[in-house]
Amino acid sequence: MITIKTPEEIKIIAESGKILADAIREIEKMAKPGITTRELDRTAEAFILSKGAKPAFKGYEGFPYALCVSVNENIVHGFPSGYVLKDGDLLKLDLGVLYKGFNTDMAITVAVGNVSFEARRLMNVTKKSLRLGIKKAKIGNTIGDIGNTVQRFVEDQGFDVIRDLCGHGIGKSVHEDPKIPNFGKRGGGEKLVEGMVICIEPMVSAGDYNLKKSGDGYGYATADNSLSAHFEHTIAITSRGPRILTE
Ligand code: MG
Repeated sequence: MITIKTPEEIKIIAESGKILADAIREIEKMAKPGITTRELDRTAEAFILSKGAKPAFKGYEGFPYALCVSVNENIVHGFPSGYVLKDGDLLKLDLGVLYKGFNTDMAITVAVGNVSFEARRLMNVTKKSLRLGIKKAKIGNTIGDIGNTVQRFVEDQGFDVIRDLCGHGIGKSVHEDPKIPNFGKRGGGEKLVEGMVICIEPMVSAGDYNLKKSGDGYGYATADNSLSAHFEHTIAITSRGPRILTE
């Protein structure tokens, strides 16, 4: 069931999203060679708590941390750990905030030190595919319009979208209906209506889109160990067009 949010609720979700975006910027700055991913998790959690909010992922479906950390071939849902970031790592940070009863969800990919040309290109293509997808998130368009736009751009650049993981609605729960795949047919799927709040999150592989479980047994990695990138924003569908709530 898709829940429609009131303008008052969207205002609260934007406050939640502001805390989240600020938390992400904070840990992005720290993501340098020599730091452990556990330190990033601790900083993210402390930052969120200091704002009177809660880390939305901690305890969600058994996930024990605030921050999802996935490096190189790992795509999403990885555990923070004693792993020390090294020059050339492609780091994915995915974080959620619960504030005044409403969740927001955001992810970025960070180049740690100097990454390869291909890693940089993968990152830029994924980031741009999110921007293009967001542009389609307007009243009268469909979920298929978002997925189709993301997929066509990514595939034109020679990369693949992950098929088995997707974006989602968000609100009082982290994951709500509808699902927002990163592929699809133009005009296909549910119509977007005013008051929907959705997470668009392209996950892109430099190789094949098939997945396997990560080494920690919780996250997902590309089956062929190729590099992956991930960007995500929480968006409201408004009469004035898509509104990014995690900025
Ligand atoms: Mg998400």
